[in-house]
Amino acid sequence: MALIELQNITRSYKVGGDDLQVLKGITLDIEEGEFVAIMGPSGSGKSTLMQLLGLLDRPSSGTYRLGGNDVSKLTDDEGAVLRSKTIGFIFQMFNLLARTTCVDNVALPMIYSRAPNRDERAKEVLQEVGLGDRFDHKPNQLSGGQQQRVAIARALANRPRILFADEPTGNLASDQAEEILGQIKLLNRSGITVIMVTHEPDIAAHAKRIIKIKDGVVVSDVSKDVAQHSLGGSATVLTKPAKGASTTALKLETPEFSWAEFGEFGASALRAMAANKVRSGLSMLGILIGVAAVIAMLAIGQGAQKAIEARLASLGSNLVMLFAGAPSMRGVRSAAGSNSRLTLADAKAVRGLPHVVRIYPEAEGNVTIVHAGKNWVSEMQGVTTDYEGIRSAKPYYGRFFTDKEDTDLERVVLLGQTVVNKDFGNENPIGQTVELNHIAFKVIGILPFKGSNGNSDQDDMIVVPIRTAMRRVLGTEYLHEMAIECTSAADIPNVLEAMSRLMRRRHRIPAFKEDDFQLRNMADVQATLSDTTKTFSSLLGIVAGISLFVGGVGIMNIMLVSVNERTREIGLRKAVGAARRAILLQFLIEAAALSTIGGLMGVALGLAVSLVLSRFAGWAAVVTPQSILLAFVFSSSVGVVFGFWPARKASMLSPIEALRYE
Ligand code: ADP
Ligand code: MG
Repeated sequence: MALIELQNITRSYKVGGDDLQVLKGITLDIEEGEFVAIMGPSGSGKSTLMQLLGLLDRPSSGTYRLGGNDVSKLTDDEGAVLRSKTIGFIFQMFNLLARTTCVDNVALPMIYSRAPNRDERAKEVLQEVGLGDRFDHKPNQLSGGQQQRVAIARALANRPRILFADEPTGNLASDQAEEILGQIKLLNRSGITVIMVTHEPDIAAHAKRIIKIKDGVVVSDVSKDVAQHSLGGSATVLTKPAKGASTTALKLETPEFSWAEFGEFGASALRAMAANKVRSGLSMLGILIGVAAVIAMLAIGQGAQKAIEARLASLGSNLVMLFAGAPSMRGVRSAAGSNSRLTLADAKAVRGLPHVVRIYPEAEGNVTIVHAGKNWVSEMQGVTTDYEGIRSAKPYYGRFFTDKEDTDLERVVLLGQTVVNKDFGNENPIGQTVELNHIAFKVIGILPFKGSNGNSDQDDMIVVPIRTAMRRVLGTEYLHEMAIECTSAADIPNVLEAMSRLMRRRHRIPAFKEDDFQLRNMADVQATLSDTTKTFSSLLGIVAGISLFVGGVGIMNIMLVSVNERTREIGLRKAVGAARRAILLQFLIEAAALSTIGGLMGVALGLAVSLVLSRFAGWAAVVTPQSILLAFVFSSSVGVVFGFWPARKASMLSPIEALRYE
């Protein structure tokens, strides 16, 4: 049984709708250990035949038996497995990976075949082809002859049984060509079957058998006796096929995942990025900006939410407000006090209702505050002591007034931060006297900072006991409003109803008339507000997400360019045994690496932007670990998702079309 048996093999190409028949029925046998030269004029089909023999291509018809097995209908991946175990290739153009050391170039087929001790083996074969002192050189640091010797070493790495060489000396000067031929002959002598394509008779003369083809048919097939002189040295030990490596036992399943493969893909991704720094940088920029936007936007959204939540908390929880004045009088609040009669007695009655925890009535008015010749007009709020608890108004400095001071109409006042700044500057106001509408008051405390609520400064106010305010300053018997704290949110509807009934009875409002007061459930207001901020946050998130998407499209674009540009490299990888999945994985890793690195830099930029915004622009920005994780995971997945199509495109390339790609 011959190693290679071809039966009536044809191969035709579709060119512009026509069938171009390149091989027109080739039948031949090649025995194990032969050294065959295939000759013929340019365009006669030599390379086509060699690619069929090397399982890089499938015949259009006919049968091809390799080691007794029919291999004419293998799938792409089955061909890859068989190639990686039994076949080595040498090409006219060398086809080494650029920017990759000799050792790594030679080790490449062993990654796909999962061979152990790749580095030692690579060095061993490099030594064998006379490049023992060039391990770490890259292809552009070698002469043509040396590059071809690296290619020979690569072909030998997996101890193949057959070596295919397509015009191996075509690109070399004659002395280097001799050297390469010498090496090929040596390999043949050690037991490897050699099939070499050439159109030069003096090169073919080194072979033991010359098959001439012309226009796709064999025109002559001559075996001759070549004088066997010893070339010295022996490659036998190194190149003898490993025991058990036989094409008779076809094992075609794709090998499982290996970390070596993963590492090589990572390294090749980094090499590709380094080779195109500007391009990689620009495509990372899209992801970088997207991720930075996600982080900064989420930070601002969350900051806004926190700020509003804090403000809502200072408003008290489970709060109901009762305002004087009919609902139809909305917007005429200044007149509210005058057309209804909300009194301290009403407040006392409301406090007696079930589910009411505490309550403060409020009477308010603008007053002129005078201290040491400085004037300031501000809002005065007359309240009771429960104000401190309900509104979280524990004085920042000093103390709140007492119930006794309220009933005794004491002239004591607490100042808001803005008033302190305007009237006192850096002077300590506690214990000082201020005049409110020409009445002397003693300052006993400073209210906590509340900030602006968007349209008014909540710190531009002062607080005095309610009875003092009504009797001494405002001269009124009526309140403007009261704030009622309920036991729980669930009780609020009951309290509202009870209050409404109570107030209508107390104010003797007949059934046909509308209320002369308004009730407002502050819990509803709070819920609306926090809903609004949540919507705001998610809107920001969506905007940021869109920019990430755009970044992803950028990655896809660059990956498509990269696949296109590296078509020959993909072809070479497939020729030395890479399965589809391996190529897919390689390009996916590359895309993921691009987007992950972009993502990491984006996280840094996003953090910096958030920091700057909260430091200098005074915006609250809260960066949570979750948002960083989210942005990071999202950006890596963008790489995988958008890299998938280009990677798949690469993996589906036919090896010979890829190798022929210009
Ligand atoms: P050579 O003997 O010079 O190595 P080839 O085997 O490369 O010749 O090509 C033989 C013929 O097949 C040529 O005429 C070439 O134009 C044609 N050919 C090769 N590959 C293709 C292809 N992919 N599509 C169409 N025609 C092809
Ligand atoms: Mg050719």
